[in-house]
Amino acid sequence: MSSIRDRLLKSGIGPNKLNLNRSCVVCGRPAFGLGELCALHRNRRKAHGHPKIRSGLRVKEWRPILPTVLRFMKANPPSAEALASVGRLIDPGNAPTPSVPRRHPRRLLYEELCHWQRPEARKSAKVKRWNYKPRGILARLVAAQVVLEEQERRFPGAASEIELARTLCSMFHRRERASGKRKQRLSGSVYRELADRIRSSGAAGLYILQSARGVIRQRELEQLEIANRPKKPQPPPDLLPD
Ligand SMILES: [Zn+2]
Repeated sequence: MSSIRDRLLKSGIGPNKLNLNRSCVVCGRPAFGLGELCALHRNRRKAHGHPKIRSGLRVKEWRPILPTVLRFMKANPPSAEALASVGRLIDPGNAPTPSVPRRHPRRLLYEELCHWQRPEARKSAKVKRWNYKPRGILARLVAAQVVLEEQERRFPGAASEIELARTLCSMFHRRERASGKRKQRLSGSVYRELADRIRSSGAAGLYILQSARGVIRQRELEQLEIANRPKKPQPPPDLLPD
């Protein structure tokens, strides 16, 4: 299969004229097609968002928002349908048939979700107050969505759903590798499969979007209230000494 780049070059248009000598903005290798990334970084963007974005969403970015989210959720509780939909998000479901290859995204996701069912996959509730009930998971996804929407330009397009998937994964310990001490890295296709589940999760997805907007409004009001707070009265100037 020839790339757009090859086809354009074959048609006799010089590479300079078409600006085809571009190199990848990340690594400097020749860019793929007419894009600004090489084939490798183009693939990475599909899984993890734009590679120039140095880091994905971190837990410490959304955790401070959690109390506001919990207050919001108390006033606007999720429907039973939304909570059930969160349960389905992390439900392994039926095992793929043996004909599904070992590295197939569906199988990888199934194995990961089975791992999440085990108590040792869960992080200590004492240290960081993790909560694995559907409501707890939903609250963390809403908090993450607040940051994603407040920093829209940092997470363009599908990147925000991948980040929600990563947030979900960050709630669980990775599996040990069979061979050594190092933890297994999650394949990009697991994030993509999970992002797909979140995107098509109906009631949960809707609740996440609507609540995030509600929380953002609430945060704006709080900021405004702090800004408009009357200044503390100044203490009277010291009386001049006689
Ligand atoms: Zn590159």
